[in-house]
Amino acid sequence: MQSPYLGAIPLHWCDSCHVPVLGKRCGCGAPARHVGITPPGDVRPAFPSDIRLINSIFDEAFGQPLIPDGHIVLLNKVPDDDRMEEIIIGGAVVGAIRYLPSGSRWEALPRPQAGLLMRPKRRYVVVDDGAAPFVQEGSSVLAPGLVEIESHTTKGDEVFVLTGDGTCIGVGRAKMGSDEARSTSRGQIVRLRKNSTQTFLPSPSTWDQAVIANREILLSMEQDSIRFIQDLSEQETLPITVSYSGGKDSLVTLILTLKAIGPVPLLFADTGFEFPETYENIDRVCERYKVELFSEDGEAGFWKGFQKHGPPAVNLRWCCKACKLTPVNDLIEKQWGECLSLIGQRKYESARRMKSRRVWRNQNVPNQLSAAPIQHWNALHVWLYLFQEKAPYNILYEEGLDRIGCYMCPSSDIAHLKMIEERYPDLWSKWRSAVEAWAAAAGRSPEWFSSGAWRVNRGGEDEEDSHY
Ligand SMILES: [Zn+2]
Repeated sequence: MQSPYLGAIPLHWCDSCHVPVLGKRCGCGAPARHVGITPPGDVRPAFPSDIRLINSIFDEAFGQPLIPDGHIVLLNKVPDDDRMEEIIIGGAVVGAIRYLPSGSRWEALPRPQAGLLMRPKRRYVVVDDGAAPFVQEGSSVLAPGLVEIESHTTKGDEVFVLTGDGTCIGVGRAKMGSDEARSTSRGQIVRLRKNSTQTFLPSPSTWDQAVIANREILLSMEQDSIRFIQDLSEQETLPITVSYSGGKDSLVTLILTLKAIGPVPLLFADTGFEFPETYENIDRVCERYKVELFSEDGEAGFWKGFQKHGPPAVNLRWCCKACKLTPVNDLIEKQWGECLSLIGQRKYESARRMKSRRVWRNQNVPNQLSAAPIQHWNALHVWLYLFQEKAPYNILYEEGLDRIGCYMCPSSDIAHLKMIEERYPDLWSKWRSAVEAWAAAAGRSPEWFSSGAWRVNRGGEDEEDSHY
């Protein structure tokens, strides 16, 4: 699957401070080395619940957790059929996890560096000293070089390749299960995964240290955004607002706006499909920053649309207009007639947003001039800045959710929707009932909802730009 290029990935690593650095030089003065990751490269911190998930996936596959305590871990979502995340530790990609919707389960994809963090107890092979140099060069493990194959290994598994003293020299996919491999004297046992030779230097560190290492870089991003907001406020006579969603990007936008021009009202389109934690976050943010909230109900518009179109799908996202854009347009009309809204849009989010200008008008909200102060920030800039400011971000991020919008958004991957189903059974069953009733009336199969097929295009219209 092709990765979209959304701009250079500025991810580097300081091997003195053991932290990620978003520039070529660390705050400590040392040069930071480039970390090669898959584009678009909008990396984010792994929170403790993400680390628990990764460790449980690796534990199940290899009998050992991957991530030791006290290390900074980054996640990088990469293009895949559903969901795949690269795991970055010690300035290198040590592996990935991938969600397999057909089996409703995650798969662990280690890289050789993972073998330096953990010693697998399951799913490994041991090769003899004669074969080791060839394996290190990337050759397959062949039957004559095999000393041992661990008995949980089945055909198609990801396996570690070890030498006799337990050193990991590669990873790959088993072409035979343990029984077959033990009874044959020829053929390919493991096909090696092509390995990069990234420098890998894991050592404990904290996010506070990462903030210090990136202080100058964050200051320059902050100054650019503040200047952008101040220039706009001098050029435009419209009243200024911040579009607040309860997500991290709109929180950074609010903080920058407060620093640039002081308190402004918040706009919030309440779709009726928000998480309870999002409402709590909005209350907390309004109280902490002493800003006024203007909220408009979008749920009525949603159900009207649902009657007409059925559930929204990736390529039939009538919902943004119905439950966000039109309500916001009405709200602005009532309150100000017209306004300028600062929005937490970033180019790294998608190809569409990469091409978007920093100031624009959404045709569905004609009375709103929109502007993106953090257009050039990536997710790690955002997170480091929120940590630095000790900002009250939505707690859902700490609990394994990286998208904070409508809980049933059809653009979500199935891995995400499964998490929501488990965490919010009541919210999910409300949605399921509505979709299943619609499906029955429309003559769809009973599996249409459970398989996730409802999310996929039935129309073929282009995705609407949802930012307001
Ligand atoms: Zn440093």
